[in-house]
Amino acid sequence: MSFFDTNIISLHEQLVNKEVTAVDLVEQAFAQIEASDGDINAFISTNKEKALEQAQTIDSEGIQEGEYLKGIPVAVKDNLLIKGEKTTAGSRYLENYEAIFDSTAYSKLKEAGAVVVGKTNMDEFAMGATTETSYFGKTANPWDISKVPGGSSGGSAASVAAGQVPAALGSDTGGSIRQPASFTGLVGMKPSYGLVSRLGLIAMSGSLDTVGPMTRTVKDNAIVLQAIAGYDEAEMTSLPDPAADYLENIDAGVEGLTIGIVDELIDHEAISSDVKELVQAAIETLKAQGAQIKTVSLPHASYANDLYALIGRAESFTSMHRYDGIRFGHRAEDYEDLESLYVNSRTEAFGSETKDRIVEGAYIISKDRIDDYFFKAAQVRTLLKEDFSKAYEEVDVIITPITADTAHNLAGEREDQVGELETALAAMVNLTGLPALTLPIGQTQGLPVGMQIIGQVKDEARLYQVGQAFQTTTDHHQAHAEMNGGN
Ligand code: GLN
Repeated sequence: MSFFDTNIISLHEQLVNKEVTAVDLVEQAFAQIEASDGDINAFISTNKEKALEQAQTIDSEGIQEGEYLKGIPVAVKDNLLIKGEKTTAGSRYLENYEAIFDSTAYSKLKEAGAVVVGKTNMDEFAMGATTETSYFGKTANPWDISKVPGGSSGGSAASVAAGQVPAALGSDTGGSIRQPASFTGLVGMKPSYGLVSRLGLIAMSGSLDTVGPMTRTVKDNAIVLQAIAGYDEAEMTSLPDPAADYLENIDAGVEGLTIGIVDELIDHEAISSDVKELVQAAIETLKAQGAQIKTVSLPHASYANDLYALIGRAESFTSMHRYDGIRFGHRAEDYEDLESLYVNSRTEAFGSETKDRIVEGAYIISKDRIDDYFFKAAQVRTLLKEDFSKAYEEVDVIITPITADTAHNLAGEREDQVGELETALAAMVNLTGLPALTLPIGQTQGLPVGMQIIGQVKDEARLYQVGQAFQTTTDHHQAHAEMNGGN
């Protein structure tokens, strides 16, 4: 067992009762990082000195009951800016880039007293589902280091699953919090679009990008979201109202709630029979606690993979324009004129996945194709939103699988049909701006499996309520990876 196989609430009690200090927790985090990161490579950079300094200040101020994050070590995905620290987004392009301001999500975590121990590994610019496209090497899954941890927030997932920290921030553009959380047995929240400020998040696809927490328990997740959510006047897509109270009704149970299920997304032939059974059993568990189950339909969900490919790549292409060899990061040494400065800098420092997506995005929004591809996709995106609105006239939340199977081997591949379904299951939520919570529902062949609970915009509190009801009567979230560092 690692020290951090418990949860934030129990660590908080120990801090308040002075059984441990914030400095002890930072020491524990680094002991576990030293013991296990050689195997999993969860971190791109760490900052022990700064973490210890913050912890000392916190210990001298004292921690009051209810200041849940004060003195808790956390990890942050390396696409969130921390002023004066390297922020690489997993790319050679930003290998030496030092952020010049703090991302809002980080500032808010810090304000709440959380102690950031380091920045986690990720697929380059968050483009990927395995954390294998990082310039800084692959991250491995703590449950089995021959497997991927998922991605793109694979470093954050691995770090929490290996007991290095009890919580981490990730980003989710098309599943990058929820899929790695499921591959590593964690709880992941992709909040409503605009609930958590994107200021200081290195953009992948602007209309899909979100920032959210990865934790062991539903309650811990609510605590972290509470700290980072809320209006940010410096971010133009920030939702205008303050965050709701995510803990107030978290123990209210599911009696009287109606859960929607989409038959074709559970019975889909790409989903392994073990995953199907676990999802069905999880739904039965909630039913036994008083939830009503109702079938709904999302006729346009089958287009979500294509919509994500078109809209996501078009927007990634525009996000990548800022890397011109002049303003940020890498600059080629060899160039003759402006054009070759652009070309050589980008050729040298972008990985192949990033290059592919730039080329695809350029094609999708090129003059002769933008109407047929990008604008058509935008129209179908509206139809998908309408599907969800209609479903929510009848149900409170919708449950679907989030992955079709458990984590695959490093350097292995997912079958096309499996990958496409998984992208659709995750990205339909980003395309519609809705929130979704994923949580562990069991294991098969020694690897964790999760499911997804999707809500209406700003309905995160209800998702936590359903998730908490599930974790109150099950113990899947208490299972932990066995690995180096005594974990
Ligand atoms: N796997 C998806 C992709 O490669 C999701 C990425 C993300 O959410 N950042 O695009």
